[in-house]
Amino acid sequence: AKALGKGQYYIFDPAMHDEALNRLQLENDLRRAVERQEFKVYYQPIISLTTGKIYGFEALVRWQHPTRGFISPIDFIPVAEETGLIASIDLWVLQESVRQLQAWQHQNLINDKVTCSVNLSARHFLQFSFIQHLRELLEATQINPQMIKLEITESAIANKNQATLDILHQIRDCHIELSIDDFGTGYSSLSYLEEFPVNVLKIDRSFIKRIDDPEHQCGLVPGIIGIAHTMGMIAIAEGVETPIQLEKLRGLGCDFAQGYLFSKPLDPEAIAELLARSPQW
Ligand code: C2E
Ligand code: CA
Ligand code: CA
Ligand code: CA
Repeated sequence: AKALGKGQYYIFDPAMHDEALNRLQLENDLRRAVERQEFKVYYQPIISLTTGKIYGFEALVRWQHPTRGFISPIDFIPVAEETGLIASIDLWVLQESVRQLQAWQHQNLINDKVTCSVNLSARHFLQFSFIQHLRELLEATQINPQMIKLEITESAIANKNQATLDILHQIRDCHIELSIDDFGTGYSSLSYLEEFPVNVLKIDRSFIKRIDDPEHQCGLVPGIIGIAHTMGMIAIAEGVETPIQLEKLRGLGCDFAQGYLFSKPLDPEAIAELLARSPQW
């Protein structure tokens, strides 16, 4: 800090300056990325714990930055949400996933029982334009809407207001099922589950991580699976990495799982190879 005069200081912190610049740069780059479509969708298989077959995929966005290389969604989704760019990104991922499902279907790699789950930011899905875009996409592509699922975090819908309820009903009227992502991490009341048309609870990886400790009583996982089934929903475990976790989840009656134990998120070419090798659907 440099003294400017009596009692006044001009704080110059080079680290903070760099951070602000980086952030600004990231914002600009992100705008350009949306225009030039520098994104790619990766797909992570979701496996049925009863049949061992592929039930569907989760679409996960990747940003291939022209000079900085691959940037993780963890680093750019928050910036995209703050700037509003997330709406364009989410819509692009949705369109691309539909296009990809139809391509795989034409190649006879999947049938129309295979699903693709697309993440939707709270900020985006609460906009009225979202439901319009969704309807247009369904109309234009004629995709079977049951092949698409939308994932929203519980914080997005935890306040039970009429606007949220309307949007959720409109999504349901499109015959698209809804999943609650990162379930149990939002510290919200569960009462919304009784009123909202929700079909799937996704158990966050932070809960799954702890269950292969032999001393551990599986924590909240049995409770979450119980809530799902009591409410007529299905439970999907995310971030399954070990055979012990898998066995415990099976024992607990969990319906589906995804995680590195089965497969990392893969590019569409690798998924096509996987499907061609083992047409297990
Ligand atoms: P998420 O929705 O909870 O997605 C699961 C994340 O866990 C993904 O990270 C996935 O790659 C990772 N994962 C899956 N299995 C394992 C495992 O066994 N071990 C470990 N360590 N990780 C595993 P990813 O792809 O980096 O995405 C991070 C987050 O970014 C997502 O978390 C989601 O919240 C957000 N995101 C990704 N794509 C989109 C998108 O298109 N739109 C929006 N709004 N958000 C997205
Ligand atoms: Ca997700
Ligand atoms: Ca999430
Ligand atoms: Ca998660």
